[in-house]
Amino acid sequence: MSSIPTWDTIILGGTVLTLEPDGRPIPNGAVAISGGIISAVGPAEDLLEQAPTGEVIEASGCLILPGFVNTHSHLPMTLLRGLADDLPLKEWLESHIWPAEREHMNADTVRIGTQLAAAEQLLAGVTTTTDMYFFDDVIGETLAEIGMRAVLAESLIDFATPRCATPDEMIVKQREMIEQFKDHPLITPAVAPHAPYTVSAANLAREAELADEMEVPLHIHLSETRWEVEKLLEEKGVSPVAYLADLGVLSERTVAAHCVHVSPQDIEILAELEVAVSHNPASNLKLGSGVAPVPAMLAAGVKVGIGTDGPASNNTLDVLRDMQLATLLHKGTTGQPTVLPAGEAVAMATLGGARVLGLDDRIGTLCEGKEADIVCIDLRTPHATPMYDPFSHLAYAARAADVRHVLVRGRVLVRNGKLETIDLETVTAKAAEITARIASGDAG
Ligand SMILES: [Zn+2]
Repeated sequence: MSSIPTWDTIILGGTVLTLEPDGRPIPNGAVAISGGIISAVGPAEDLLEQAPTGEVIEASGCLILPGFVNTHSHLPMTLLRGLADDLPLKEWLESHIWPAEREHMNADTVRIGTQLAAAEQLLAGVTTTTDMYFFDDVIGETLAEIGMRAVLAESLIDFATPRCATPDEMIVKQREMIEQFKDHPLITPAVAPHAPYTVSAANLAREAELADEMEVPLHIHLSETRWEVEKLLEEKGVSPVAYLADLGVLSERTVAAHCVHVSPQDIEILAELEVAVSHNPASNLKLGSGVAPVPAMLAAGVKVGIGTDGPASNNTLDVLRDMQLATLLHKGTTGQPTVLPAGEAVAMATLGGARVLGLDDRIGTLCEGKEADIVCIDLRTPHATPMYDPFSHLAYAARAADVRHVLVRGRVLVRNGKLETIDLETVTAKAAEITARIASGDAG
């Protein structure tokens, strides 16, 4: 006779979407968790037959799937959401965002902005996020306390940031942060040179060396606008992708955000060097940057995940919305309704994101042995009734507000639509104080 399993938690009653290859939806399914790790997935009656112990999380009427992964963002920019809109990227950054950051971003405001970003993302079913900004050690400590998973890096740029006066100081901060978090169960430290047009060739090469030496991801903005491509062609005689490849910046460690203006030759380079791409459709549309050729990148074998970019250029951190936008957008631009079908879109926002961040051995699907980052989405709503195909509803009908429970590494962070580890009232009150100061200082 087999022994009675000692599970900490069992999620019961909904339809389980494992996102495993060939994994079929499991109606009336269950997921059991022990010590933060998934210990069993299957029909509820099979798991209950084993007379398990542990807390039951009721998920009737829900889809139970891996949490969404946000592969590119700048979290404390929640505090700048809506400060300036409807402007080209360069003017938006230089006349509004960078001045506000210099004046108002410090360790205290970054902490509040990060708490707000975590609240928004968890309530929208995002279990893993990303950041490249300033004070990323503070961001890491804040997210670790909340219990959210993240890949984080202090950003390096050739001019002073609110944190550091010089690139040398930024590299010191990056090293310290990598040491601080290198064995953390939730926080993966990284390096993040801002972009090919804001970081010198020498500093880009130093960042690539640091990522190799410390064996961490390298996160960078790449080929976001036509302006960037023209500037690099004029100054270096090559595309931004070819330029970074020549400098040794592109490898299987690289997460390249945007890749909107990439040529077929650029796509070949990205595929050959196993660079992962973060696709940020809402930000690219809002800033008038264009549409990344995602179907061509996927056809070439490039790994692609969904990112929201910072909440000042989207203006949300809602990965579900960006995924839904992506699947519509590429049908429209290619004239092919068969492009990026529902199942592939959902995979891009979950397992695809985990692959982009190099975390797919730990998260991204629901199977025994993986860490329990799980979202339960309640689709007993008029806008999701009837349901023939759960993937169709996730890609075209579900809303972030339908998220009911969220677990990261087995810990319940959202229960029945309420945050368990963030005092939202206090966070929004503090954010309001900061934004009142920012609003009074933005001369436009
Ligand atoms: Zn960005």
